Amino acid sequence: MGLNDTPSGERVHIGFFGRRNAGKSSLVNAVTGQDMAVVSETKGTTTDPVKKAMELLPIGPVMIIDTPGYDDEGTLGEKRVQKTRQILNRTDVAVLVVDAAEGCTDCDRELISLFEEKEIPYVAVYNKKDLLETVPAAKDNEIFVSALEGKGIYELKEKIAQIGKNAGTERPLASDLIKVGDLVVLVIPIDSAAPKGRLILPQQQVIRDILEAGGAAICVKETELPEILPKLSEKPAMVITDSQAFGKVSADVPEDILLTSFSILMARYKGLLDTAVEGVAAIDDLKDGDTVLIAEGCTHHRQCDDIGTVKIPNWLKKHTGKNLTIATCSGQSFPEDLSSYALVIHCGGCMLNEREVRYRMKCAKDQKVPITNYGIAIAHMHGILKRSVEVFPHLERLL
Ligand code: SF4
Repeated sequence: MGLNDTPSGERVHIGFFGRRNAGKSSLVNAVTGQDMAVVSETKGTTTDPVKKAMELLPIGPVMIIDTPGYDDEGTLGEKRVQKTRQILNRTDVAVLVVDAAEGCTDCDRELISLFEEKEIPYVAVYNKKDLLETVPAAKDNEIFVSALEGKGIYELKEKIAQIGKNAGTERPLASDLIKVGDLVVLVIPIDSAAPKGRLILPQQQVIRDILEAGGAAICVKETELPEILPKLSEKPAMVITDSQAFGKVSADVPEDILLTSFSILMARYKGLLDTAVEGVAAIDDLKDGDTVLIAEGCTHHRQCDDIGTVKIPNWLKKHTGKNLTIATCSGQSFPEDLSSYALVIHCGGCMLNEREVRYRMKCAKDQKVPITNYGIAIAHMHGILKRSVEVFPHLERLL
């Protein structure tokens, strides 16, 4: 991610689906104004989608996902459907590219039923309208275009923008918790796990949100907090800490000051907080031989370092005293079948879009597997959960 880039979790994810000969690639190129095969960040094989983050007017920051031809012989039957389902888990708007000369085929109908099953809003794009003698009237979620002649492309983008408008999160990160002029203290450890020369994404996003709400963010390391806190002439509205430093910070911040963590704010922002608080009690019910899945949202998570692989497993074993098996997954490898797990502990999910976080939660809920997240689990195992969520009084009933 470049310095000024919108994080991928904040982008509207637009997936292009269709058969190989429907002109999908030319349509993707016409919509993006770029040759995706050349500019894409991920190299596509017959089974892998190609992704590219870009600004797309009039939509704004998007993630374009160009999927392999749905009728590709390289991926057959179940595997193809499963792959498409996986892509749909993070797709906010689906674009189905249909060959206008051939009309809707069984293959296209199969894709439409997958969109409907996943409740993904979609637009059916009849490409190659230049081959038609008369262009039929389009229904509401249909459009006739010619990628070859560049006709109907702007209208298509407007249609996608219209559908994608509701895809983003409406939840605030911290701005609803403070007033104009409030001081907020952010506790940010600068240790070996911290990336060189910059702050991590949730910290950047919280600072941005506080500034937008008219507050002031004072950043301090956990080691200097006891010295700096008394120097403030006014009591801060809130202290927000890295969850790993929660124990120490909780002891240093007087009880009458609200205290929470970046991870808890992020969980609320992604729509996971209530479920995570509800699920955390399952830690105390773990038995010998249970398997806990520790899931991370991305694979290049230097900022999460060894929390998932070392620290949480150790805390779990110490807290429960049980002989547990720890399984891990990262990036897109979140398993659809969770039946072998007694509990899922998910990372903050800062790189995932809301749809994907919701999907993972639903997977767990449908299979009656409790799910929680790093921040909540850490706070629970350190006996400071109550304090870390007191900023959200509605959660009291779940504690
Ligand atoms: S592992 Fe999770 S919390 Fe860490 S950077 Fe990746 S998505 Fe964000």
